[in-house]
Parts: sequence; C-alpha cells; structure tokens
Amino acid sequence: MTVEVISVGTELLLGNIVNTNARFLAEKCALLGLTMYNQVVVGDNEERLKDAVYTAVGRSDIVILTGGLGPTEDDLTKETCAKVMETALVEDPHTKERIQEYFKNSTFKKITDNNWKQAMVPQGAMVLDNDNGTAPGLIIEKYGKHLILLPGPPGEMIPLFNGQVEPYLAKMRPELIVSKMVKICGIGESQVEDRLLDLIDSQTNPTIATYAKTGEVHVRVTASAPDRETADKLIRPVVKEIKKRLGICVYSTKDEETLEMAVVRLLKKYELTVATAESCTGGLVAGRIVNVPGASDVFREGFVTYSNKAKRKHLDVSKNTLKKYGAVSKETAKEMAIGGAFATDSDLCVAITGLAGPDGGTEEKPVGLVYMACCLGGKVTVEKYQFKGNRQKIREQSVVRALDLVRRTILENYS
Ligand code: ATP
Ligand code: MG
Repeated sequence: MTVEVISVGTELLLGNIVNTNARFLAEKCALLGLTMYNQVVVGDNEERLKDAVYTAVGRSDIVILTGGLGPTEDDLTKETCAKVMETALVEDPHTKERIQEYFKNSTFKKITDNNWKQAMVPQGAMVLDNDNGTAPGLIIEKYGKHLILLPGPPGEMIPLFNGQVEPYLAKMRPELIVSKMVKICGIGESQVEDRLLDLIDSQTNPTIATYAKTGEVHVRVTASAPDRETADKLIRPVVKEIKKRLGICVYSTKDEETLEMAVVRLLKKYELTVATAESCTGGLVAGRIVNVPGASDVFREGFVTYSNKAKRKHLDVSKNTLKKYGAVSKETAKEMAIGGAFATDSDLCVAITGLAGPDGGTEEKPVGLVYMACCLGGKVTVEKYQFKGNRQKIREQSVVRALDLVRRTILENYS
C-alpha cells in the first residue's frame, strides 16, 4: 500500500518551523511497511491545497495531512478535503460536546464562535478524539482511498497517531513488519555495503538497508510476515551472516544499545575498570561513558589535560616527549594512556590527543590529525587518524573511535 504525507502550513514553506511531523510520519509508515513515494508541503491556500490533495488521492492509497485543522480562517484542510472527496460537512454532536468540555477545563481559554467550526466533520468520516486540543482527527474513506487528517501541533498529532491512526493502519495491512538493527563501528558505510552487496541485492524479504551515523554504520534488516515468529525466522540467518562477515566491527544487535552501552557492558562482563585521558575531546569520552546507567561500576576517573602542563602534571608525560614529538604525537598519546592507567589504578585507560582546528594545523600535522592510545595491563595500542570536517565533527569522530578502541581492546584480549 502506498502512503503520502501532505504537510499544510505557510510557516513550513517560509522555513519558520521545521517539518518534524513529516519526519515522524515517514518513520512510522516505514515501520508499518507502507510505501511512501511522495511528501508534499503546501501553504494555507485553498487552490494549491486542493491540487495537492487531488494529486495525492490520484496516486496514493492513503494520504495523511497535518495542520490547518484549527478554528481560524486560514485553517482549510478539512473543508478542502471534503470538497475533493465530494462530501458534505455535518455537525458532530459528540465533538461539539467535547469542545464544550475542553473549554470548561481550560483556565485561560474562552470559547469563541469560530470554535464551533471544529465540530463540523465530513459526512461519514471517522472522528478521532483529540485529548490535547479541540480539533479532532478525521479519517475519510471514499473511492477506495483513505484520507487521514491530523492537527498540526506535534503534541496533538503524535498522541492521535499513536493511539488511533497506527492501529487503524496496522489493521489494513495483513502482514507484520519486524526489523532488527545491526550496529557497526570502525568501518565506513561504503565498505559495509561492499561486504554485504550480494546480500543487499538478492534479498527481498527481509530487506537490508544501511544508514551512516557519525563514526558508525547501522544496518536494518526488515522482514514482513504473518506473525512475529515467522518474521524472526526470516531475520535470524541474515543477521547471523552479517555478523559473520563484519566480525568485530559489529558492536550490537540491540536497537536500544548505544556504543557506550556496549563498552560498559563489556567492561562489566570482564570486571575491568577504565579511565580516560583526553586532550582535544575535552571530556566528551568520559561524558559518553557516564551516559550509561551503572557506569560507576567500571569508570574510575577522567582527565581533561588540555595543556602540556596538565599532561605532565596528571599523566606524567615526559617533558622530553612533549618537546621532541609534540603534544599531538603517538609518543604523547601512549604516555598519556600509560600515565592515566597508573594514576587511577585502572585496568584500562584511553587517551586522545589531536588537532581539532580550525587553527594550528601545519603541513606535517594538519587539522584533523588525532592520535589515540589504549593501555591495558601495561600493553599499549596506538592509532593514528586523519579526520575531515569542522572542529565539532573532528571531536565527535574522535569520541566514537576512542570508545571503539576500548571495545576492541577488550575483545582482542578477553574473548
Ligand atoms: P491549531 O489549532 O493550533 O491552529 P492546526 O491543526 O490548524 O492547529 P497549524 O495551524 O497548521 O495546525 O499549525 C499549528 C502549529 O503546529 C504550528 O504553529 C507549529 O508549531 C505546529 N506544526 C504545524 N505543522 C507542523 C509540522 N509539519 N511539523 C512540526 N510542527 C508543526
Ligand atoms: Mg491553525
């Protein structure tokens, strides 16, 4: 089944607000297994809205509209849809009552004449009670098409969708859609795709799609089946094959597990403690670890050693190393990791030192050059990266790589 979203509002065309409703609905519809080929944004103008609705019902089975259901003159979605679908507007006594109730319970709002406009509904339409506002959601079914009208404010639209529209759409679709995410780190999207290309090309159920995140790649495996068990059976061998091909790069197959959660999980599993020694990331790695509830079991201490003096004072980096190789060097990164582990008596310490820019780069050491080191039981691994992007991007990528270095170090030594 195909679905189309029409976002109504001149504010959207002017860029005054971000179209978060379309994003929300697109994601939901994809999970429901509905196919979306078109999204339209149209202003509060009757002629253009009419055109958009007319075109949409011509090419899509389901059309979801948001916005323009309010009480004012410029709110024309319901009237326009009724015209296109050739339905009259009639008063809905239940909605009228609800509007009365809504205003009774509202301290600041006074009922005005134009509020009654919201009690008018297209004849035969399903009325969806809106608990967070006066405009009800509406579903018009005619000529084999489904028009779903929802209010613009996300605080009203989202609960209406989740509570009433989603079950309505789910009932229309005989198949169940189940998906599983394989989360990958330490390898680029094109490489992931290259290793999975034959799988991606040959699969129709489940389908495989890759998504690039900062420093990570997520692969979503989606199956459609009459029941959960059958869907799981279709997904399982594909996930297994992806894991086999990508090996240590896969850090999780749980939707809710982030990279830092996976790191903390491994630290706990092998009863290890960790410390951080950060220069260019300024504590961001420690921050990510502390994001995880229960991190106190494994996280000892984090140093933000931005200056050379701090690197010497807290991490015991030698004056000679700093002078000879510079703060951004593999030698300094190595000594930072060793010093951090020693100072905190931790099993592991990850250290990051680099040039986040925009200034300070040279031909020999350009902006984006980052060294990181991980010390485990006196053994140190040092990695060199040349990141692209602005200061923020370089730091974000460094954080992901540093967390991944901890993860790999544990796996390489303990599993
Ligand atoms: P109201 O009764 O508040 O007038 P409405 O259904 O008529 O609701 P609009 O007037 O189109 O909706 O929009 C009201 C508000 O809802 C906007 O000012 C904006 O804050 C939010 N909104 C509308 N459309 C979107 C959208 N596509 N994405 C995110 N927010 C939106
Ligand atoms: Mg409005």
